[in-house]
Amino acid sequence: MSEVVELLQRLIRVDTTNPPGNETAAADLLREYLEANGVACEWYAKVPERANLVARIPGAGGPSLALLSHTDVVIADAAEWKRDSFGGELVDGEVWGRGALDMKGQVAATAVAVASLAREGFRPSGDLIFVAAADEEVGDGFGLSWLCSEHADAVRADHSLNEGGGERLDLDGKALWVCATAEKMSAPFRLRVHGRSGHASMPGIADNALLKAAALVERLGAYRPEPRIEPEVAALLQSVAGSVPEDPSELLPFARAIDPQLGDLIEPLVSLTFAPTMIEASSKRNVIPALCEVTVDSRLLPGQTVDEQLACVRAVLGEGDYELESIEAQGGTRSPMQTPLWEAVASFVAAEDPGAVLAPVCVSGFTDSHWMRDAFGTVAYGFFPARAMPPEEAALLIHSANERVPVDDLELGVRFLRHAALAMLG
Ligand SMILES: [Zn+2]
Repeated sequence: MSEVVELLQRLIRVDTTNPPGNETAAADLLREYLEANGVACEWYAKVPERANLVARIPGAGGPSLALLSHTDVVIADAAEWKRDSFGGELVDGEVWGRGALDMKGQVAATAVAVASLAREGFRPSGDLIFVAAADEEVGDGFGLSWLCSEHADAVRADHSLNEGGGERLDLDGKALWVCATAEKMSAPFRLRVHGRSGHASMPGIADNALLKAAALVERLGAYRPEPRIEPEVAALLQSVAGSVPEDPSELLPFARAIDPQLGDLIEPLVSLTFAPTMIEASSKRNVIPALCEVTVDSRLLPGQTVDEQLACVRAVLGEGDYELESIEAQGGTRSPMQTPLWEAVASFVAAEDPGAVLAPVCVSGFTDSHWMRDAFGTVAYGFFPARAMPPEEAALLIHSANERVPVDDLELGVRFLRHAALAMLG
């Protein structure tokens, strides 16, 4: 059996469901494997049961490359699964279990790439750094954010690769691989709507905050923000179509006309988004609420600010008896697109899939790459190639039941990470 499959099976069998995480068990396993292959390991743990593992093949002082991953996973509901969610079974060429795609598969592929280079006596020009971080899924400050602030020397790197991209789309016969070079900012806020309480049997004498909130929620839902042409979207369309519409309002129709998948891919990337997700009003059926709180998930384009967002919300909602409260904004960083790391990814795609195009994308979710860009100005991309499993299938399995990864994609991942290390540090 291949080395990466065996390592992934062992990682899946270690339950690192976050919360509580218990990533130390995974860090231990990785340390044992890497040390057996001659790679020096460093151990960083804010609390003993939530260790981060950093390993390094020291370089000769040139620019460094960090291969990032996280070892925690989200909860799995066993009743929904066809197989043991922590079994790591190999069935018909696929490894099953929580984390197979997000992201123990990449953890295993990264460890194998680094271990195999070490065995071959690879002497990099700059440090090759392996980071298996804790606590990405919840983000309570035990993982990469903590490493970047408290152990900066351990994880500082000129370039980094992480999760967040690597999908292969088939656009009307033309293959397109996406590399994540930027991400939106997660900036949720609370909308607090005020009224006056009263007995629910006499609604006329009260002022129902829930009803007032309903009208505001509808306004948010109906709002269509002004699209913008962001550099990643422009570069993406340029590589696929050879041109970019000048009028931002033409972006989506233009992309959809090429392929509906392309429209879906760029839709969240042309503007900020609002998605009301939680609501709280009266705690008694017969009491009309004086206060209704709506929590709104909101994602901003890189460079957009929370002030801009709140001004936009006020313009959409108009005057009223409400206030807005930002919850906590994070992310929203980008890396340049013309870099040696881009060339390294592009040369892999060219060799692996002749005729295919590599295009940048700004991801709508949050990844640990943000911490590297924010702390060190690292050129941080998300790319882990997947070809055997179509992206629409993977999207349904991540954070869901029956998560699994094809062995062919794990091996493709090992080839990619070795290629990137050799291209950047050879
Ligand atoms: Zn992940």
